[in-house]
Amino acid sequence: MFLKEYFSTVFKSIGSLLKGMRLTGYYFTHPKEIVTEQYPDNRATLKMADRFRGEVIMPHDELNEHRCTGCQACEIACPNGSIKIITQQELQPDGKKKKRIDTWVYHLDLCTMCNLCIEACPTTAIVMGQNFEHSVFDKKQLKKILNKPGSKLKDGVE
Ligand code: SF4
Ligand code: SF4
Repeated sequence: MFLKEYFSTVFKSIGSLLKGMRLTGYYFTHPKEIVTEQYPDNRATLKMADRFRGEVIMPHDELNEHRCTGCQACEIACPNGSIKIITQQELQPDGKKKKRIDTWVYHLDLCTMCNLCIEACPTTAIVMGQNFEHSVFDKKQLKKILNKPGSKLKDGVE
């Protein structure tokens, strides 16, 4: 009885092994039918899903203008301190002073991609980008400044 069960298990295992090897052999001889994608070989054509969250970014237009007023709503909404907005007072033509961003600091190493900052922004100044290749040797490189050098607030955005 024991021997019968033993040999039955051995034959089933061999059958299962041959089944797997037959499939492997099939795809080896029919490479065009492989549906899995080989990253990073497919980097040039790789398309992430529209709702993929890779990192927080701040779009700038062709005039190097952004939509960030420096209201700090995103900084307050962030649950883990990934954002630090440094502002300054800018003198307006009418002599009044207005708050403007000086530096928009984003700590990508802390960010959990929760999207709360983006939902909190009243001017849609920030969005989720699709870049996901964030590996670096030095963690300091994950601290990013999102407002570009020389950029300014787009006219009409309050
Ligand atoms: S996505 Fe979430 S964790 Fe990342 S910066 Fe925005 S609020 Fe903070
Ligand atoms: S990104 Fe949006 S929420 Fe954050 S400071 Fe700028 S305007 Fe305010």
